[in-house]
Amino acid sequence: MAVREVIRMGHPTLRLKAAPVSKEEILSEDFKALVQDMFDTMDEQDGIGIAAPQINVSKQVAIVGLPNDEDDFDVMVVINPKLTVTNEELSGNYEGCLSVPNMTGFVERPSGVKVEYVDLEGNDQAIELDGFGAIVMQHELDHLIGKLYVDHIKDITTLTFNDAYTEEDEE
Ligand code: ZN
Repeated sequence: MAVREVIRMGHPTLRLKAAPVSKEEILSEDFKALVQDMFDTMDEQDGIGIAAPQINVSKQVAIVGLPNDEDDFDVMVVINPKLTVTNEELSGNYEGCLSVPNMTGFVERPSGVKVEYVDLEGNDQAIELDGFGAIVMQHELDHLIGKLYVDHIKDITTLTFNDAYTEEDEE
């Protein structure tokens, strides 16, 4: 168990296409330790998701927080995902990212997706998501193909330091 350093925008690992993980590796102790470190790092940073490239490990594994009925998040681990858009209607949200600290920007994404993936036991799974869960999923899976949310910002004037936004509110 360890909190790892989160690498920030500009680090080349964040722009790589991450490698798929073999079933043998998924079941290994090293891989379990990697996922535990991802959980520890995400929790320490109060994130609702994290992808392995963000701790400088270029492998296709992400933790995704999905909102539940108790105003909290259920977390799932997604390995080797394949994403399909099921609803092209765009949903716009201010997103943030542990690798782009203290900033937020307005991004539009498809509002429904299906993800086929492998779970921590090495089994094939599929999930369909809409609403905020679909947004978090797309944000995290982008990390596995070398993309960041800032790539999707259409109006760059929405890219904002969190504390500057608060100051404006208080005027
Ligand atoms: Zn991110």
